[in-house]
Amino acid sequence: MTGARNARSELKNFAVKIHEYQAKELLRSYGVATPAGHACFTVEEAVAAARKLAGKVWVVKAQIHAGGRGKGGGVKVAKSLDEVRDHASRILGMQLKTPQTGPEGQKVRRLLIEEGADIRKELYIGIVVDRGTQRVTLMASSEGGMDIEEVAAKAPEKIHRTAIDPATGLTDREAEDMAIRIGIPEETVPQARELLKALCRAFERTDASLVEVNPLILTGEGRVVALDAKMNFDDSALFRHPEIVALRDLDEENPAEVEASRHDLSYIQLDGNIGCLVNGAGLAMATMDIIKLYGGAPANFLDVGGGATTGKVTEAFKIMLRNPKLAAILINIFGGIMKCDIIAQGVVAAAREVGLTVPLVVRLEGTNVETGKRMLAESGLPIISGANMADAAQKVVAAAAGR
Ligand code: ADP
Ligand code: MG
Repeated sequence: MTGARNARSELKNFAVKIHEYQAKELLRSYGVATPAGHACFTVEEAVAAARKLAGKVWVVKAQIHAGGRGKGGGVKVAKSLDEVRDHASRILGMQLKTPQTGPEGQKVRRLLIEEGADIRKELYIGIVVDRGTQRVTLMASSEGGMDIEEVAAKAPEKIHRTAIDPATGLTDREAEDMAIRIGIPEETVPQARELLKALCRAFERTDASLVEVNPLILTGEGRVVALDAKMNFDDSALFRHPEIVALRDLDEENPAEVEASRHDLSYIQLDGNIGCLVNGAGLAMATMDIIKLYGGAPANFLDVGGGATTGKVTEAFKIMLRNPKLAAILINIFGGIMKCDIIAQGVVAAAREVGLTVPLVVRLEGTNVETGKRMLAESGLPIISGANMADAAQKVVAAAAGR
């Protein structure tokens, strides 16, 4: 992550994710056709699952919260139960690296054993929220499979879009048109129409932020089947979806983010080295942007919220300090509802408890600012004071670079 991209572009990937097998179960309940399959945690379970499935070809699929598994060796076809056993023992426990996991990869702890499908053609279906048109948008392409990113980059005209009217949902006509545009044969169009409508219904009812079926396949028998499934959800709507909260796999989530959510803190880990502790999501975004403007890179997004207590600030501080990349911290507080002395108290308590190992720049403004500043000054901690946001950002960038 470099240069001009703003903080928002780094946060856009943040969403609640579930595994492929869970997304398929969910979609099946809306009427989407998928291959039969079973989730497994051990090699023995994998072999038993294959035995239960009809047919002579199985696919062993690593379940991690990242795509591109096929390319990384996490999706393998097996033609006998022995091959199922071999693939399962190789994939389970492996550190799977895909274009979406980052260089360290992701440990595989679950598998999906699925019946092998008879693939005539691989298509692509995506449903996203398009902020430009302010509509949920159905995207589809005849060029599905493992290289859709390349299609999007090199032949964007091959990706078709339909903005969905929230009053009607995806209409029969729109669904049929889309099916025809991506080359689905006439006799399959009615089934494809129902499948596309079911995907859109699932998106809406679950408050999803993304549904992606890549590939949707056309089988030898002329049926359309979701061979892969990815669903992300809007975390602001999770309170009304306990059934989705139950699907969370905390092994797949960043431990610092899990810990933060326990303390009701909005924390998202990023790749940079400057920790940010801010009150208010808007100010947190602006703080990250200004750090980038002066050539630095934020280590996290952290909004302690309006009504934070000393305890909450202490927890926030501790979570930030756990990041091994951390080189400096910027605390940027506008004390409106949140009072500056509460923040100061939390900072001092946390720094005493865990030890302040990196330079700390503080910019305080607002209610009880003088008390807050005095508490920090009297704490004896080596705090660098920022006069305003620009000054504080420049100082923290310099401190992180060891200048
Ligand atoms: P990823 O997108 O993470 O690579 P997919 O589920 O899309 O994982 O699988 C990658 C490829 O493996 C698919 O494009 C398809 O060609 C093949 N594949 C996946 N599941 C099956 C299956 N049940 N039967 C046959 N081939 C499959
Ligand atoms: Mg896929």
